[in-house]
Amino acid sequence: MDHFQLFRRINADPRGYAIRRKQEGAKVIGHFCSYTPQELITAAGALPYRILGSGSDSVNADGYLQAYCCSLVRGGLEDALAGRLDFLEGAVFPHTCDSIQRLSDIWRMNAGFAFHADIIMPVKLNTESAADYMRAVLARFKADLEKGLQVTITETMLADAIRTCNRVRQSLSRLYAIRRQNPLAIGGGDLHAVFKAALVMDRAELADALEPLIADLAPAVRPPFTGKRLVLSGGLCSMPDIYQVVEASGARVVWDDFCTGARYFEGPVDENCAPLEGLAQKYLQRVVCPAKHAGIYSRGQYLLDKARENRADGVIFLYLKFCDPHAFDYPYMKAMLDKEGIPSLMFEIEDQLSSQGQLRTRCEAFMEML
Ligand code: SF4
Ligand code: SF4
Repeated sequence: MDHFQLFRRINADPRGYAIRRKQEGAKVIGHFCSYTPQELITAAGALPYRILGSGSDSVNADGYLQAYCCSLVRGGLEDALAGRLDFLEGAVFPHTCDSIQRLSDIWRMNAGFAFHADIIMPVKLNTESAADYMRAVLARFKADLEKGLQVTITETMLADAIRTCNRVRQSLSRLYAIRRQNPLAIGGGDLHAVFKAALVMDRAELADALEPLIADLAPAVRPPFTGKRLVLSGGLCSMPDIYQVVEASGARVVWDDFCTGARYFEGPVDENCAPLEGLAQKYLQRVVCPAKHAGIYSRGQYLLDKARENRADGVIFLYLKFCDPHAFDYPYMKAMLDKEGIPSLMFEIEDQLSSQGQLRTRCEAFMEML
């Protein structure tokens, strides 16, 4: 049985999936960022839906945004203004980069949804006061959800949702481990489809669907992989072509540092403490994004550790055009890799529109270098 089929189908039409869930009675809450506490939305009985933008031409959004906004923000707003997100109750905006913070205001005033929540998390995550602040912020978001969706989120409901989301994290992490052991076990395109689907699926359905997929993949004996091993790094990956290009050049991706990849699942929530406390600790200690701060070199050190652990021959930075937080981190992260003798390539992408031909040429040249 091809367990990937379900994920490919949902990835091909995430909107269709969410609309079906809504017709079945679910409330769908949109969000743009992996700092959104999906556990609280799940506990409220709603479906957390990551908005990535459909890649349609920007007709309406340009009137509200500066020319230098990333395509994630532009695409999401365009979809909302064009009515393509009408199945949402509303959206949540964890305050991360400047673009998302401004998008929240524009969205609230113009997108016309009933529900809107800002989650103003601490920027500096590694201080004592950040822990108190994070707990208060999460409690406030819980109250916003309860009021907006007319539900009461009990401790038991939140603990159940945490367990479900932890099952998902554990399975996604297992998929990465299988691939790391033998990169031929899972095609990059298939893993990408699983992740994109995971960002919009009902978490209990997702947890149930991942377990048989892993059970099927794990025991197979495969020839050893002898090609080049790559790590990808960046904000998000909305460009599945990258896997095709990498694999056509004889290499395989063995790890990533994307908010639509490893950053989304690394680190479970502690199930042995009070649910809100566990959540606060999780979002303080998770793999950090460049819009947050947990030490000057923490992102570079993480990338270096992952490159070493996964025996990577090189790193490709996928830089989403106009994403300032990632652009600011790139020079020092590249310098840290250079110092350790790990070659890297930087490729600028603009949603799904980047040229596959140009990517292929640069990727092939990079492989020759490795
Ligand atoms: S890179 Fe980090 S801060 Fe930016 S959208 Fe992704 S999860 Fe959010
Ligand atoms: S972190 Fe980068 S990719 Fe994410 S919303 Fe901000 S500018 Fe866009």
